[in-house]
Amino acid sequence: MKINANFQKMKPSYLFSEIAKRTAEFRAQEPDKDIIRLGIGDVTRPLCPAAVEAGKRAADEMGVAETFRGYAPDGGYPFIREAVSRYYARRGVSVAADEIFVSDGAKCDVGNILDIFAPGITALIPDPVYPVYVDTNIMAGNNIVYISGSADNGFLPVPDENTPPADLIYLCSPNNPTGAVYNAGQLAKWIDYARNCGGVILFDAAYEGFVEGGLPHSIFEIEGARECAIEFCSLSKTAGFTGTRCAYTVVPKELNADGVSLNALWARRTATKFNGVSYIIQRMAEAALSEKGLAQIAENLDYYKENARVISSALDELGVEYTGGKNSPYIWLKCPNGMGSWEFFDLLLKKAGVVGTPGAGFGVNGEGYFRLTAFGDRDRTIEAVKRIEKALREEI
Ligand code: PLP
Repeated sequence: MKINANFQKMKPSYLFSEIAKRTAEFRAQEPDKDIIRLGIGDVTRPLCPAAVEAGKRAADEMGVAETFRGYAPDGGYPFIREAVSRYYARRGVSVAADEIFVSDGAKCDVGNILDIFAPGITALIPDPVYPVYVDTNIMAGNNIVYISGSADNGFLPVPDENTPPADLIYLCSPNNPTGAVYNAGQLAKWIDYARNCGGVILFDAAYEGFVEGGLPHSIFEIEGARECAIEFCSLSKTAGFTGTRCAYTVVPKELNADGVSLNALWARRTATKFNGVSYIIQRMAEAALSEKGLAQIAENLDYYKENARVISSALDELGVEYTGGKNSPYIWLKCPNGMGSWEFFDLLLKKAGVVGTPGAGFGVNGEGYFRLTAFGDRDRTIEAVKRIEKALREEI
């Protein structure tokens, strides 16, 4: 019996276990010290009332013979696919219900999408970025070419004449971990590049709910995207569904590779390997995307945005360089005094009792950077920021 030897090529998943180890060691040394976590990528605000009420109603329906439902349609009930379609239409983006595939997570879809492409192809992946793109491509035996995000390009790499052709192009905007958001012009460059080299853009819009002003929420706001892009989105961060689980992937009908419709391939893959999201969750997601639900969700998003503002205005005062904090729950800061990511982690933990996420865990270019998140409790965030300010004033 042979295993998939590609698994052997992956780096150990070291980031969060190392954070936990260092935090536990510190706790053992200083058991009375209060530790605040500003590193988590999980939400903390509860689900919106509209979703909770819809979930209760749906659970009641399941307990009555006349309204009981068994297996859900693979790609989602028409009501949720239409709700997502209307959600896009609010921004003038036309996406048909049968181009939307509802699933239990963008993480799964981002990984599973590789099923419909040949193994051994080339993936262009920004660095730093959400580690799932790298690991899933290693598992699939694909070649990975990195494109560098750095302070020079605002952590928003765009292709130029030196960018090699690629089969798959991963874009994450707003970006995890850097919080950077592509504008329409930059996305147009990616679309030109993808169409020139025949590649498919895999656009991860998991944090689109944080985008404000004129910046794009969806790659489909940009002309030409329907011919070259697949979009992944999720209710996890927008509507607090990290534990409830509901996401959607959009595969436009115009999108072909090797003369084959990728919408048809993804439909086939979904029908073969997935039995749908539970009816109750789909009703909850539908309610979250209703006018009432969206207004309630906006309150939670505002709460996180205010946390982000609290963190970033302290960094402004300290003169610390960062990206994100606007249009994103992430604040990606340059570690002061040329410190390495882990060195800065230790400093914040010991001096401020604050746990963040070392940027080095998101790629080579993350070294020397650090991620803070706005997903925490307001009072705890304010307290953490006070402590960070004090620690940094002593340091800088
Ligand atoms: N995409 C990005 C960029 C993320 O940061 C995350 C979660 O942290 C996900 C996708 C996962 O979303 P889901 O909860 O829908 O699986």
